[in-house]
Amino acid sequence: MSESEFECSVCGETFDSKKGLHIHEGQKHPDKQVQELQHLLEKIDEEADKVSEIKEKKKELKEQVQDLKQEKRQLQGTISNLEDTKEELQQKLESKNSEIEDLQEELEEEREKEAELEAETDSQQRKIEKLQEEKESLEESLSQTDNLLTKLNHQVDQLDEDIEE
Ligand SMILES: [Zn+2]
Repeated sequence: MSESEFECSVCGETFDSKKGLHIHEGQKHPDKQVQELQHLLEKIDEEADKVSEIKEKKKELKEQVQDLKQEKRQLQGTISNLEDTKEELQQKLESKNSEIEDLQEELEEEREKEAELEAETDSQQRKIEKLQEEKESLEESLSQTDNLLTKLNHQVDQLDEDIEE
């Protein structure tokens, strides 16, 4: 390792201090300092370009964030509409359910009435059958009475004939 840490990049002469090197450069190679300054300015320009690129990117990102916020608002609007629609549908469904319940109750009542009517019809049918039996029995009695009457009439005729003789 060299004892002198600072070497002139133009002529290779070495110095113990940075200050010494600068004095040497200013005296022997004034153009070198100008070049370094220009190089520094270029670097600053490059950095400035980078900064403006970053600013540009930041602006783009801000716009993207803005777009996303807009999309989010639209989605929230859509969700809100869908929730309204869902609520309407649920109300309709509830009303349909209650209609169905009412109809089922009515149907139940109709069935009960039908069963009552059937029972009544059965009872009427039995009454009719009983009356039919009574009628037949009466007809039978009538017929027997007729026969008896005919016989009695015949006997009366016979008696009359007997009396006349
Ligand atoms: Zn030099």
